[in-house]
Amino acid sequence: MICASVPRTDVPCVDAKALNDRVRGAYLGLAVGDALGASVEFMLPHEIKANMGVHRNIVGGGWLHLKAGHVTDDTEMSLALGEAILADGGFSALGIARAFDAWLKSKPIDVGHTVRRAIVRFRSQGLTQMPLDDFDAGNGAVMRALPVAIATLGACPDDVARAAKLQAHVTHNAPLADLGLMAVVRMTQCALRGKEDAFLEMGRIAQGLREQAREYDFTKRRMENPSAFLPETLRAVFQAFLETDTFEAALIDVVNRGGDADTTGAILGFMAGALHGESAIPERWLKGLNAEVRKRCKRQALSLLQMSPMIGGEAVSFMDA
Ligand SMILES: [Mg+2]
Repeated sequence: MICASVPRTDVPCVDAKALNDRVRGAYLGLAVGDALGASVEFMLPHEIKANMGVHRNIVGGGWLHLKAGHVTDDTEMSLALGEAILADGGFSALGIARAFDAWLKSKPIDVGHTVRRAIVRFRSQGLTQMPLDDFDAGNGAVMRALPVAIATLGACPDDVARAAKLQAHVTHNAPLADLGLMAVVRMTQCALRGKEDAFLEMGRIAQGLREQAREYDFTKRRMENPSAFLPETLRAVFQAFLETDTFEAALIDVVNRGGDADTTGAILGFMAGALHGESAIPERWLKGLNAEVRKRCKRQALSLLQMSPMIGGEAVSFMDA
């Protein structure tokens, strides 16, 4: 498929103010979800209930002893990825691998096992794309997928998929995870476009994923204590997102399921933030976020949007092809 260049004709009227609100909402939603969920990561729902009733405030703590308002690898890797995309003016696996390597050298508070192993392989062998391995169907590449969804907004589907997988495969390369990744990116872009039926369309994309691979079937048992296995993560995220109608209710629902709560919080946070916008995120959560993190998220959201085909007018660039 040859990707059309811009100006886009299928987006006749972009309400810039509303689009900026959604893009900032997505980035702040990611950070807020990460910060809120980190307090209850690895806890069971009944332990959360016994300790804090309903967990609804950004208070830090958890197994990482996080300072209130600080974030974990979900947000930090997203920001590192976003900076690499902006610095390269497009998608370079080498640029992204170097950015993740630099992030790991900064001694982050938390690093996923698959991510660490991939970065170590990059250092020793220069590998910027992991070999195919279905055991890598963890959620580590999806939790940081937001910068791609923003930077490729308005691009043709082939370019969106190529960019999403290029960044994912720097650390995770599993076909089962790629299916979930693409559904999340498509749902996020659907929300960012802001059409009236966006929520329904997002539900249809989630249903489509469930039909593609039964591991993602979120319509059966309620998913509690979701692990880092992407189908479990997304089953919890989709249930919470599709069964609520506000940013706040959806995020509280998902983190109180415990398990990999910072990552379910992060993924749900950016999808719901993209749908409802910054203006729908409770003030106590925005204020509760570390000021530097808040500033970086807002700035990066708008910078990535500026380079997207929808706004920037250029097709997506790929390097080291
Ligand atoms: Mg994390």
